Amino acid sequence: MLTALQNVLSSNPAGELFNTFEATEHENLVFCYDKPTGLKAIIGIHNTVLGPALGGTRFWNYQNETDAVRDVLRLSRGMTYKAAISGINLGGGKAVIIGNPDELKSEAFWRRYGKFIQSLNGKYITAEDVNTNSRDMEYISLETKYVAGKPEHLGGGGDPSPVTAYGTYLGMKAGANRIYGADSLNGKKILLEGVGSVGMHLLEYLKKEGAKIFVTDINEQKLKKASKLYGCEITDRDSSYDLDIDIYAPCAMGASLNSDSIARLKCALVSGAANNQLEDEQEHGNMLKEKGILYAPDFLINAGGVINCYAELEGYNRERALARTELIYERTLEIFDKAQTENITTHKAAVLIAEERINAIGTLKMKM
Ligand code: NAD
Repeated sequence: MLTALQNVLSSNPAGELFNTFEATEHENLVFCYDKPTGLKAIIGIHNTVLGPALGGTRFWNYQNETDAVRDVLRLSRGMTYKAAISGINLGGGKAVIIGNPDELKSEAFWRRYGKFIQSLNGKYITAEDVNTNSRDMEYISLETKYVAGKPEHLGGGGDPSPVTAYGTYLGMKAGANRIYGADSLNGKKILLEGVGSVGMHLLEYLKKEGAKIFVTDINEQKLKKASKLYGCEITDRDSSYDLDIDIYAPCAMGASLNSDSIARLKCALVSGAANNQLEDEQEHGNMLKEKGILYAPDFLINAGGVINCYAELEGYNRERALARTELIYERTLEIFDKAQTENITTHKAAVLIAEERINAIGTLKMKM
C-alpha cells in the first residue's frame, strides 16, 4: 500500500493526492502557511474512529515538499495503529513542519501554529517529535488546549521520550526472551542508531543491563556525549550494518530497514524506537522473516510516548502511564506468537490486531 503511495507521490504529487488518500485511507491533510513567521506545516489526520488524532510534530528540513507529504502520511497512519494496539482511545495523526528549526523557532511561530491546531477544534492533538520539545509545546498551549507533552509545571507529562525509551526497552527484552529464552541483555552486542532524546534514555537501560553497545548518529556531539556517559563504542554510519551484533535498535529516522540494510544485517533481533522502520512494510517485513531476524514492530514497542500523552489528557499520573507502558512486554510476546502460528510477519500480526480493535469499536459506535 505504501509503495503505491510513494509511486503516486513521486510521479505526480500535485495531481494525484486523492488517489493517495484512497490508498492510505486518510481523513484529512491540512496545509498551514504563515508568511510573517515562515511557518509551513502539514497536519495529517489518518483515522479518528477510536478518538481524536494524536501525534507529535516533526520539524525537519525536508529536501522537498513531496518528502514532507510522504512523511506525514506514513507517520499519521502509524499513529492510528499505535494507539489501537496500545488499547488507548485515540486516533492517528501527525504533523510535519518544513524548515530549519534553529532558524525558524520563535514564540510567534509556535503560537501561529497553535492557532492552526485550534482551528481543527480538537480533531488533532499535537505533541513532541523529532526537533520539537516541551518548551515548544508550552508556546503552542498559549493558543490551544489541544496539545500534550507540556512541561510538568503546567500539569503536563513532560517530554514523552523517557517513557518511549522504557517501552522500547521492554519490547527489546520480550524479543530477547523469545530468541535466547531469557530477558537479560547482559553481554548482548547492540547497535543503537540515533542517540537523540529516546536513544539516549534507552542507552541508560542497556548500560545498566551490561550490554555491549555500539552507537551511530549524524551528530558528532551526541555521539561523544553517549560515549562519555555510557562508555559505548562509536561506529561509522556506513559500516554499522556490517557489524557482528545480536540486536539492532533503530532510533533515528524511518526506512532504515530496507533491501540494502537487511541484506547486510547480522543480528537476531530488530527492536528500536524509530517510526516507520520498514521502508516497504510487506517486502522488508518478509525479508526479515526469511532471514530469520525477529522484528519487534515499531508502532507496538515505541508507544510509551503516546501512552504518556494520553495519560496527560486524563489528568496526568506518571504511575498510570508507566503501568500502561509495561503492557508492551506481554503484547510483544503475543504478537510474536500470532505471527508464528499464522506464519505471517510480526508487522502484519500487529496490524491485524490493531485493525480488529478499530473495526470492533467502530461497529460498536455505529450501534449507539
Ligand atoms: P531526536 O531528534 O531527539 O533524535 C534523533 C537522532 O537521530 C538525532 O540524534 C539525529 O542526529 C539522529 N539521526 C538523524 N538522522 C540520522 C541518520 N540518518 N543516521 C543516524 N542518526 C541519525 O528524536 P527522538 O525524539 O529521539 O525520536 C527518534 C525516533 O523515535 C524518531 O523516529 C521518532 O519519530 C521516534 N519516536 C519518538 C518518540 C518520542 O517520544 N520522542 C515516540 C515514538 C517514536
